[in-house]
Amino acid sequence: MAERLEAQQRTNRGLSYRMFGEIADPADGPDDPALPAEVKVRDLLWARLRITRGEIRRRFCVAARIRPRRTLTGPTLPPELPALGAAVEAGDVGEDHITAVTRALDELPAAVSSADRDDAERRLVGYATKQDAKFVTVIGNKIADCLNPDGNFTDEDRARRRSLVLGRQRADGMSRISGFLDPEARAYLEAVTAAVRPGHRLPETPAGRAADERDTRSSAQRCHDALKRALRYGISSGKLGTHRGVPVTVIVTTTLGELDQAARAICDPGVEMPAPARTGGGSRLPMRDLIRMAAESMHYLAVFADHSARPLYLGRSKRIATTDQRIICYARDRGCTRPDCPESGYRSEVHHALDWARGGTTDADNLFFGCPPDHAAATRGDYLTTVTKEARLAWSDGTGPPRVNHIHHPEELLGDEEDP
Ligand SMILES: [Zn+2]
Repeated sequence: MAERLEAQQRTNRGLSYRMFGEIADPADGPDDPALPAEVKVRDLLWARLRITRGEIRRRFCVAARIRPRRTLTGPTLPPELPALGAAVEAGDVGEDHITAVTRALDELPAAVSSADRDDAERRLVGYATKQDAKFVTVIGNKIADCLNPDGNFTDEDRARRRSLVLGRQRADGMSRISGFLDPEARAYLEAVTAAVRPGHRLPETPAGRAADERDTRSSAQRCHDALKRALRYGISSGKLGTHRGVPVTVIVTTTLGELDQAARAICDPGVEMPAPARTGGGSRLPMRDLIRMAAESMHYLAVFADHSARPLYLGRSKRIATTDQRIICYARDRGCTRPDCPESGYRSEVHHALDWARGGTTDADNLFFGCPPDHAAATRGDYLTTVTKEARLAWSDGTGPPRVNHIHHPEELLGDEEDP
């Protein structure tokens, strides 16, 4: 019974990929926002299937590689990976096999001939129909060693493999980072790490401690401090340009009460340190770090009256109206305002609640954050948006009452005013 269920599941997965292949736009620009039809289909799938946009994109990508390729003109082309496509269609391989085979083929260097590549695909799929995905990965590594015994990799191979993944912030405020640096990035990191050699450039020298005091940092800690130092200098140089109209810098929001309490806590150990402030990326920044950062370079700091969206103070290096309005969006909305959308402020655009074309002004009370797909959907009229009396943007798709997004306001998620 278990075997039959597994086979059934694999057959269904094959049918799913066939369906994704059928509905994909033949003009096939995976992330091209200029294709409203495809964007519409993706939005529809996302809303109806309740799977993530990333998963939808992944299924379209796999379908595009294992299904026959349609062209706008001319005949249908065979799939890029015909052997894998046939095995998926027959229900002989599972999702983990598909991942193992495509990853092994993608790892092959660009210098490998297409005949060798096709042969490798057939062999990998052959093993995938008889063994588990782990075994397929091992075989994939062996094939790569065989086809590229001298380890010849081109610049394109390296460009394809470079990656840096910033993990989610843990409860203690730390974040795991992992990935692969290309030789140039490594050269830079080595250079800045060498500059924080033992005994030099302590990250911070608290009062009463000499700068030449013995440095007890491990090499891993020095590498971390070097990267932090390089990023800080990069940001304070002001040469990183602008991001959506605001100079690239750290944006932090807090309330006056918390800032005041933090300032007292630093001087008086009897005062409790308030909860961390929030960055435009949606992460938590301890108040002690915020005050130190604000003292040494120009970041954007928005301070709010307690329990309200009324800005009291905007610290900034230069006064630009649009910049101020965007910072108010960071502070009030923290991220996309569509209900249940988790996109952070750094990834949001400014949406005019009352459309510009219909007489909307650019006053901050009329401007709200929306991530690019939601902003586009609201502009198209897929949603009706209204401003609540708390000066928040409420969205409705016509099937229910307008709702505001609580995702970026965890204190509201646990409130009992509204069901999720
Ligand atoms: Zn959104």
